[in-house]
Amino acid sequence: MSNVEIADSPAVRRLADWDHAQLRELAEEYGTPLYVTDLDRVGANYRRFAAAFPDAHVMYAAKAHTGQSVLRALLAAGADIECAAWGELQRAIDAGADPNTLQYTAVNPPAHDLDYAVDLASDAPGLTITIGATDTLDRLAERGYDGRIAIRINPGIGTGHHEKVATGNDAKFGIPYEQVPEVADRVRDEFDLVGLHSHAGSGVLTDDLPDHCRAIERVGEMARRVGGLEFVDIGGGFGVPYREDEPPLDLEQTARMVRDAVGDIDAQLTLEPGRYIVADAGLILTRVNTIKPTPTATVVGVDASLATLIRPAMFGSYHPVRNVTAPDREPIPATVGGPVCTSADVFTTDRPIARPERRDILAIGNAGSYGYELASQFHSQPRPAEVALESGDERVVRRRETLDDVTRVEQ
Ligand SMILES: *Cc1c(COP(=O)(O)O)cnc(C)c1O
Repeated sequence: MSNVEIADSPAVRRLADWDHAQLRELAEEYGTPLYVTDLDRVGANYRRFAAAFPDAHVMYAAKAHTGQSVLRALLAAGADIECAAWGELQRAIDAGADPNTLQYTAVNPPAHDLDYAVDLASDAPGLTITIGATDTLDRLAERGYDGRIAIRINPGIGTGHHEKVATGNDAKFGIPYEQVPEVADRVRDEFDLVGLHSHAGSGVLTDDLPDHCRAIERVGEMARRVGGLEFVDIGGGFGVPYREDEPPLDLEQTARMVRDAVGDIDAQLTLEPGRYIVADAGLILTRVNTIKPTPTATVVGVDASLATLIRPAMFGSYHPVRNVTAPDREPIPATVGGPVCTSADVFTTDRPIARPERRDILAIGNAGSYGYELASQFHSQPRPAEVALESGDERVVRRRETLDDVTRVEQ
């Protein structure tokens, strides 16, 4: 990891590395559950990633965390932004992005999304639309669009932490591999073909790299077949260690393997990390409200739930949990769950945690990516506030919702 750490920050930030006294104060001051996002870490993650790929174009995949404060921090750090929906495009522009630098990855795009993107492109010819179906080309042509197009390839190989994110072999994503040259011809006739794109999976760590690189190899091969491209975009998918004993991705090795896999291309390499940039920059603070010893487990009830963070329920994801009130108490096997009426509403099952007591504050780590973005108001729970840390200051960047926020759209 040697020379990538040059960039000013360690390759991984564990939950134990956060200042526990500060976390306790934040919970007291702003209430729980509370999202905390360290914008300095967001910027550092971006710079470290970009340093590992010095001649590549690194965009941030906005859907991992689309908050204005995060987008602004990344624009300030020099990132461009990749968006997968019209609302993300608008929020990137609101944060100060030049629409000419945006890339819009259209996956089964609703009509409104295409209308929005075409309208945007009429004043911003630098906008790139990535298509994954020829049908989308027809719909763009109907709207009079003849601008920049990248073709998303289905490489036939998916990778990552869960089958639900292994997009590379899912027919839903991208043009089937063998149809790409023909589609490229059509795009050249009717539009401006600028790139090939692929995003094969998510949460890729060292063990998944060889598979991930096989997908990237196929993209490189196709780039050489099609030729004449401005860029080859291999998407995101770079993982972070969720478990305390997992090593972080070795960025230097990753960059070398990716380069080798793409091979010789006469085009700019583009990457679109989302999770890698924000995951370990965010956590959730939650308060213990109930302790229930049972014959099979000690159940620790907290005020965060699957409405706050759905990844464990949706993907079976592991998130580290620490007692930040009393990290030194002796650990007991704890099942930490929220107030939602389903057995899926648990963050840990029988995991050793410094013996929680009622009113303790627990921190749930690596919640910066696909955390708030997937939060819901299930059980009529107003969504939490979010506090950002930056250059020694803290500020509320999203106020806590009230019940009125939940009900105000009802008629
Ligand atoms: C979600 C997504 C990404 C980012 O994926 P991560 O796993 O968060 O890095 C990049 N590109 C596209 C097209 C995506 O849909």
